[in-house]
Amino acid sequence: MVPESHFDVAVIGAGIVGLTSAYYIKKNNPDVNIVVIDKAPTYAQGNTARSAAGFRDMFSSEMNFNLSNSSINYYRHVQEDLGHDLGMQFVGYLFLTNQEDPRLKVLQKVAQRSKVRTLDSDALSRYDFLRTKLDEDTRSLMNLKDIDLGVLGENCGTIEPEMVADYYYNSALRLGVKFIFNTLVKEFHLEPVNPLDYPGEPFLWQKKQLKKIQTNNGEIGADIFIICTDVWTTGLLDPTGIDSHIRPKKRMVFQISGPTVENVLFGWDQNKDGILPFTILPSFGVYLRPAPKAKSLWVGNADDYNRDFSFSEDPQPEREYYDNSLAQIIQAYLPTMTYPKVTGSWAGYYAYNTIDGTPYIFRDLNIIVASGTSGSGILKGDSIGRIVEALYSGREKAELYNGKKFSTSRLGIENREVEREEFVI
Ligand SMILES: Cc1cc2nc3c(=O)[nH]c(=O)nc-3n(C[C@H](O)[C@H](O)[C@H](O)COP(=O)(O)OP(=O)(O)OC[C@H]3O[C@@H](n4cnc5c(N)ncnc54)[C@H](O)[C@@H]3O)c2cc1C
Repeated sequence: MVPESHFDVAVIGAGIVGLTSAYYIKKNNPDVNIVVIDKAPTYAQGNTARSAAGFRDMFSSEMNFNLSNSSINYYRHVQEDLGHDLGMQFVGYLFLTNQEDPRLKVLQKVAQRSKVRTLDSDALSRYDFLRTKLDEDTRSLMNLKDIDLGVLGENCGTIEPEMVADYYYNSALRLGVKFIFNTLVKEFHLEPVNPLDYPGEPFLWQKKQLKKIQTNNGEIGADIFIICTDVWTTGLLDPTGIDSHIRPKKRMVFQISGPTVENVLFGWDQNKDGILPFTILPSFGVYLRPAPKAKSLWVGNADDYNRDFSFSEDPQPEREYYDNSLAQIIQAYLPTMTYPKVTGSWAGYYAYNTIDGTPYIFRDLNIIVASGTSGSGILKGDSIGRIVEALYSGREKAELYNGKKFSTSRLGIENREVEREEFVI
């Protein structure tokens, strides 16, 4: 059984979003009795543990730029000024592209606000592992595009999500946030605010709220519930009739290793670490993420057609997807990387906001929902927590670490004001 049955605030989900939300709520409201509940044995075991762990502020929409830029600045402050290692390495994000790419215009827009450098074909031709001009057969058979420039984002790189999670978990714990693990929230049912003790309540005309949730460890009541359950949000909210506005898509990462991989990984000289940036190939969003400690590259992409919206509790990586789809494209652009070994793989889900690729943060009754991170919840995690806190505290405006202020309703449903994101990777 859970030790207490009623809290001021119950946060469901101890991934990056639940941790930052709980931390900022407690930090700015020290008297609040707040609990974080998760079905896993500890924090950050959901999609936070399954990401490709890249960070970038190269987004097409101004909102996503601000959410990411502010979070990156804060993480950097934590690592460099406060001395908590978050495993951040500013190796850059390299978008390989060409003059015909319709996204080039968007990248040029991105370059106006992010710290970006362009690498022309001469600069790229120095890397003999990179094939920029494909042969005609490969190009037409596989619908691939040549490379004639690279756009390198410098306020970008890789991070260790478990270290970020450790930082917020320990900070929240120190402030007095309580955590209850191994506790599965089973059901949500709205109840009348003022019950009349008639069967069938709540009736249409009664004010409603979520008073308590059922778990495998008993009932937990709270004044406000904050739902930070990523792709599980839809299942939890559905019985209440509140729409989560998100859909799941399976995403996979394959780790490849071997001497030919190391030549590529350590064959770059445009950052101080001398390792390949997080690199996005010009076709089908296939990416290579450096993992230098393991002398490996992580490979993945966000495929669309024929990747259905089904959901399983235990998603599995599909080796044939690597062999028949990813490896073929990588081989075309990086021909020296022959026969790499697949030394690891995993799968998780993006919680997609299918309309604009930007998080949802909204309140309905006494429920606040923060989800729809669309594949970039770690690099936006700090900002999301700050906005949840502003919404909880009833402030009209949220202020991010980079000083940017905007109305919390911009990420909500009714007065949503965001552009569609072009760079969901
Ligand atoms: C393959 C892949 C690559 C990615 N790459 C990146 C990247 O490079 N950069 C980036 O920023 N993001 C990336 N992401 C996205 C990122 O991982 C997510 O946006 C982020 O982790 C979402 O955090 P969250 O806290 O919302 O969700 P989660 O970490 O999934 O947390 C949700 C929590 O809710 C708990 N929960 C769910 N249901 C219940 C219930 N009924 N009762 C109790 N607890 C419950 C779960 O156990 C879980 O701990 C990637 C994701 C994947 C899958």
